[in-house]
Amino acid sequence: MTDCLFCKIVAREIPADIVLETERALAFRDINPQAPTHVLVVPKSHHENAAALAQADDGLADDVLKACHDVALQEGVSGSGYRVVFNTGEGAGQTVLHVHAHVLGGRGLTWPPG
Ligand code: AMP
Ligand code: ZN
Repeated sequence: MTDCLFCKIVAREIPADIVLETERALAFRDINPQAPTHVLVVPKSHHENAAALAQADDGLADDVLKACHDVALQEGVSGSGYRVVFNTGEGAGQTVLHVHAHVLGGRGLTWPPG
C-alpha cells in the first residue's frame, strides 16, 4: 500500500529503530513508548487489522506472534512478564491501519487497561 506509514517503514522509506526482522515480520520501537520496552511488530504485507491478519496467508499470524515472543526474549522481559496488544478498530484506539502488535514490558502493567 503506497500511503501506509508502516508499509513505508517496512520498505525503509521512513526510518525506524528496527529491533528484529524475519522473513514475514518486522519489529521496531514505538515512537511514543508507554513502557521501557514498547515495540511494534507488523507483518511485512499490508493487512488492516487483527481480523484481517487472522484470515491472511497461511501461518502469517503465527509468524507475527512468534516474532512478538522473540522480541520479548531479546528485550529481556519474557521472565518478568509482558503484554501483547492488538488495538483493533477505532473504538479500541487503533490509529494506524496496518496491523501491529504492541509488545509492552519492563514495568508493572495494570489490568484492566484504560
Ligand atoms: P495504535 O494506536 O494501536 O494504532 O498504535 C499506533 C502506534 O504507532 C502508536 O503507539 C504510535 O506511537 C506509533 N507510531 C506512530 N508513528 C510511528 C513511527 N513513525 N514509528 C514508530 N511508531 C510509530
Ligand atoms: Zn501497510
